Amino acid sequence: MGCPERGSINALLCSILIVNQTRLFVLAYLAVYPATVLSAGDSGPVLHLEPGDVRDGVVRDRTGNGHDARVFGTRRVAVGKGHALEFDGVDDYLVVPDSPQIRWQKFSIELWADPADGSHHVVSKRFNEIRQSYLLQIDQGGRRFYAAVLGSDKSTENWIELRRPPRSSRWSHYAFTCDGRWLRLYINGVQEIFKPVGTLPDIGRQPIPYINSPLEIGRSFYAPKWNWYRGRLARLSAYRRALHPEEVEAIYRRGHAVTSVRSRPDTRSRPLPKKRPRPPASGSLVLVRGGRAVATIVVPSPATYWTRQAADWLQSYIEQASGAKLSIVDDRQQASGPVISVGHTRLARDAGITAEGLKWDSGRLAVRGERLFLIGRNVKPAFQSARGRVADGNCRAVVTFLEDYCGVRWFLPGPEGTVVPPQQTIRVASPLDRTVVPAFAFSGGRFPYGSTGHWLDNITPAAIANNFRHGIAATTGGHTYYAMVPSELFAEHPEYFALIDGKRTAKGHHLCSTNADVRKLLVRGVLEQFRKGYDVVTLGQEDGYRRCRCAECEKLDKYRFRESGRSWLDFQTHVLPDTPCERLFLLHKSVIDEVHKVHPQGTVLLFAYAPTAWPSKKIPRWGKHVWVELSNQEPEVIEAWKGRAAGTTGYVYWFDIQLPMGMDVHATPSEAARRIRNLHRNGFLGLYHFPETNFGFQGPVIYALGKLMGNPDRDHQALVDEFCRGVYGKAAVPMRQFFTRLYRVHEERLPFHLRQGKRWARWLTTSDLYLLLYSPEVLDGLEASLKTAERLAASPRSRGWVRHTRDYFDFTRRLTETVVAYRAQQPKSTAESRVRLRDSVDAFNRVRLRILNYGPEEARRWFPGHGHFCNWLSGGGQHESKVYYVPWQTRKPAVLKRGVATLAIGYGGGPGYSFVKEPLTIDFSTPPK
Ligand SMILES: [Zn+2]
Repeated sequence: MGCPERGSINALLCSILIVNQTRLFVLAYLAVYPATVLSAGDSGPVLHLEPGDVRDGVVRDRTGNGHDARVFGTRRVAVGKGHALEFDGVDDYLVVPDSPQIRWQKFSIELWADPADGSHHVVSKRFNEIRQSYLLQIDQGGRRFYAAVLGSDKSTENWIELRRPPRSSRWSHYAFTCDGRWLRLYINGVQEIFKPVGTLPDIGRQPIPYINSPLEIGRSFYAPKWNWYRGRLARLSAYRRALHPEEVEAIYRRGHAVTSVRSRPDTRSRPLPKKRPRPPASGSLVLVRGGRAVATIVVPSPATYWTRQAADWLQSYIEQASGAKLSIVDDRQQASGPVISVGHTRLARDAGITAEGLKWDSGRLAVRGERLFLIGRNVKPAFQSARGRVADGNCRAVVTFLEDYCGVRWFLPGPEGTVVPPQQTIRVASPLDRTVVPAFAFSGGRFPYGSTGHWLDNITPAAIANNFRHGIAATTGGHTYYAMVPSELFAEHPEYFALIDGKRTAKGHHLCSTNADVRKLLVRGVLEQFRKGYDVVTLGQEDGYRRCRCAECEKLDKYRFRESGRSWLDFQTHVLPDTPCERLFLLHKSVIDEVHKVHPQGTVLLFAYAPTAWPSKKIPRWGKHVWVELSNQEPEVIEAWKGRAAGTTGYVYWFDIQLPMGMDVHATPSEAARRIRNLHRNGFLGLYHFPETNFGFQGPVIYALGKLMGNPDRDHQALVDEFCRGVYGKAAVPMRQFFTRLYRVHEERLPFHLRQGKRWARWLTTSDLYLLLYSPEVLDGLEASLKTAERLAASPRSRGWVRHTRDYFDFTRRLTETVVAYRAQQPKSTAESRVRLRDSVDAFNRVRLRILNYGPEEARRWFPGHGHFCNWLSGGGQHESKVYYVPWQTRKPAVLKRGVATLAIGYGGGPGYSFVKEPLTIDFSTPPK
């Protein structure tokens, strides 16, 4: 699992996080749909300069507010299809006279600039000889972006800074926003970093001080002299409010005449569409009319297991929808009237309809005359059974028919999550010839729609419909050493295992990469999987890799992580690309070559993870039967691997609940959509991931993600709408409101790319995250939507699923309140604050016990992922191996017997893990010291 190396934390600044929140954010969340907020007239810029417009020594303010800039010495230059002003870095600048409108407390400044080297302010408003009320600086050829506001003590500079690699293009868009509490920097439409203003929580009462100085563009004063900006500037505009990330992105996307910005799809919400489109009434083949069966289902004789299964699903769902039970006959019998042919029947063969050319578990739907053909590739005999774990193309064709022509949806796992709308008449367009090709060959790892709601024990219609399935016979997921060279071998063969600190050890399951028998065992292990029928077999080292120090191994490379004294993140970014762990690559290459002598057509999936994240310098090409599974999907890593293997797949742990986000939202629908589209564009063939079935908060995300893995071009917001409408019925609108608010908070306060990967704010613990995300306005807003939903929910389904989200919400609210109460009594606790803290912990524990006490039947129907949630809620901060992999039902009696008082939640209890210890671990039954 998890992070390669849970590196050291700079245990900085919990104090900078919010304890006592003000009301600043509330404005941003008033409306349900951001689109309506964005168009509000009075929220436009208060200052807008296009420096290329200079006339008679003046750049007019396009807003009409009169903030015209006087020009001193700069030169107008033609760039692209527009103009810019060039600042020479010696004495060029612009001046906008002071006005109350530019003495802002909340604001945004955004500009298009092409900065040269040098180190001076682009925008500043002077306060005294050495301080500016606000300033913005871009230097080092655009590699450093620095901004600050002055504290109300008139001396503290509350700054924020971003460094980035050299630019790929000259012109960039920069934005600096301040909402009174947080400073944010954006480059090219992406929020890159945020930081609190000074020491929270008092900033709302500590305004930025001003004097009547002008706004200077291109220079600033720092005693005893002026400093000058060198470079070009194409636009500068300012707002008296903090722009939302979506707005900054939209501004960037509009581009500027001096630059060419490729337009990207708009990600804003739309209102819920009223109706689902229906197939046309004419030119169609009728299968069920007025609730009576018209068609017969025909299967081949003999039918494979999965073809028969597909026909049964078809029969069952059509009956649930219409009341009509279609009979199933085999193709030796004559069927009169309309026919639905499932699989490779004689009828299909006669009509020339085959699965030829279909890849993976793609499906084909075709109508010829009175016959509807649903067909795809048969999976191999090895997977034709109730325990078969590879999706079959015939099943895909049937499931697609059920979705597109009968309106069936598998929104959540289990019976209560499936929606089958009543249909008196079922028909398909005629003629018809459609092929449905999923965008990814597989999505493995955890299977939120698998038959147990987590692991894929069996292929279900929900797993196929939502693309959380294997569409090829592949073993994925990386760490294969554990199974291929079991640790029991250590007793007899310590030489198979790594030499660490002078002795051979099986601890951590590290192997000796040059041992000939280890190589043989790996060859045998890979071949064994091919013999079982798999077409793609993974080969990859263990988690938490440590190298063998034997002389033979050490000779092969310069991979020396421990000696480098660097954090893993630092090492991986700066050292590893030049010193890859060649011993592993060489071993794996020789294993693959040996395997291909026996099984030339088998594809080996090479795990590129931690020490093997960056490609080998010694093996430039891996051949046409090797794919690579990238655990790091940063653009530079994808680029480095391009052309080296025959295919790329991703090992993505966006949703891993062991990571600091824990049971909270790991990705919003927009973020997941952006990532999926990006991976698809980069040619990724399959994904292994950890969607840990947190449906209470992430249901719409998991559903939209699944559909996007089928077709990344689908509108993710429309999928969220569809989910809400289908699952919550009359409560759809408030639930949509709930999720919109929830996801916006995450996008704004902790966007996806800052939540993981190398830009992860390592000092953010799980408790800090709850403080950062769930301020009182946010919790109140979510509570209000949920209450409305509870009032409106009319059907058992809608009430059941609203209740499910209520459990997650109560958990979130009560947990946040314990952390707030804990912070509030620091550094000095009083009898009163201690009582408040105890009460908040009690309230949280009541919610915790409510969830832990749900029985298996309740969990099966209404709580997907219940076991994982319960293990996390009772994890005690222990190592994941002690809790995560143990079924909840096994742990439950002991946990309930012990009780939850003083019990931490989550795993690991250290950097890189999700856990909350204090205040949950405080023993309130004994008096304080
Ligand atoms: Zn060795």
